[in-house]
Amino acid sequence: MQEKLTLMIPGPTPVPEKVLKALGKHPIGHRSPEFQGIVKRTTAQLKWLHQTTGDVLAITGSGTAAMEAGIINTLSRGDQVLCGENGKFGQRWVKLAKAFGLEVKTIQASWGSPLDPEAFRKALEADSNKQIRAVILTHSETSTGVINDLQSISEYVRAHGQAITIADCVTSLGATNVPMDEWGIDVIASGSQKGYMIPPGLSFIALSEKAWIAQQRSDLPKFYLDLAQYRKTSYKDSNPFTPAVNLYFALEAALQMMQAEGLENIFNRHARHKAATQAGMQAIGLNLFAEAEHGSPAITAVAPENIDAEQLRKVVKEKFDILLAGGQDHLKGKIFRIGHLGFVNDRDVLTVVASIEASLQHLGFLKTEMGKGVAAASLALR
Ligand SMILES: *Cc1c(COP(=O)(O)O)cnc(C)c1O
Repeated sequence: MQEKLTLMIPGPTPVPEKVLKALGKHPIGHRSPEFQGIVKRTTAQLKWLHQTTGDVLAITGSGTAAMEAGIINTLSRGDQVLCGENGKFGQRWVKLAKAFGLEVKTIQASWGSPLDPEAFRKALEADSNKQIRAVILTHSETSTGVINDLQSISEYVRAHGQAITIADCVTSLGATNVPMDEWGIDVIASGSQKGYMIPPGLSFIALSEKAWIAQQRSDLPKFYLDLAQYRKTSYKDSNPFTPAVNLYFALEAALQMMQAEGLENIFNRHARHKAATQAGMQAIGLNLFAEAEHGSPAITAVAPENIDAEQLRKVVKEKFDILLAGGQDHLKGKIFRIGHLGFVNDRDVLTVVASIEASLQHLGFLKTEMGKGVAAASLALR
């Protein structure tokens, strides 16, 4: 049916009506006092979301802009960095770091498994000459639906002393607890089309004091993404360049909704939806790609046997107007991914489980009695 598509991909995510309406307003001047008011209020809201007293800066660009800004503002030519790599987004960090001439060492885990924090501890302890300048990783690895143990890894980085932690929290922020100051994370990158519940176009970067110290010695080339400029102007409730003004309207509305719900409630909602999605899939005999205990709060990857995941995805879209994500690279056709990030309620979760169940039935691949998945998901939601 036209105009009825439900996004259950890990971004862009569904947008609340209040936020859509905010987007539809006439733009205002980005140097006006009215806009300064919005920058001031959203900056405070962003600090609340990151659980930090440090700087959180907004950049007009997709999430990768914030990732790139994190690298080029804290590191220098030839610096040694340790990257965690257990999926497509971990690979993006490696490519990004290499593109700027950094000396990249990786700690890998197979796709579908979490990174081993002990491997980071050992590598950091072995670095007695303090050559490692940054440990760079993805918190929620969207390509495989795995959550990495950012808390433990950043603790080992702090014990090292010299290195900073740079984390992609694009699909963990606003879905699960990421207390930046408490965990001592130095750089956090995120993007608007994920847990923020607004369309793509804004990215966010949060920096600790230690990150700003690293920034002072950083010599990598930068201009549009020079965060010193963003910090300077943010103290005047402004931006260095023309920001996506209407996305700021949306940002304020969305963050107000998040504040009204409260962080604990948001995290609990995502945890319940993860559990229900996992239970629903397992009850109809579909394997989870990652072990349930390492599952991301934002996305569940499912690896069906004997059926092309792309074919199933196609039926779910055509019959039920729900868009699921496919597998990337070698996982194409092998897995499909259910996004339950952002503006998602219990009804959405029951509906997606039922739609997958009915699509399997349609294809002749449902091996269990119809309704088993919904029953299990419903029980998990109680
Ligand atoms: C979506 C996403 C990004 C950002 O990608 P953009 O397309 O640049 O917005 C980065 N990391 C992860 C883990 C993501 O899910």
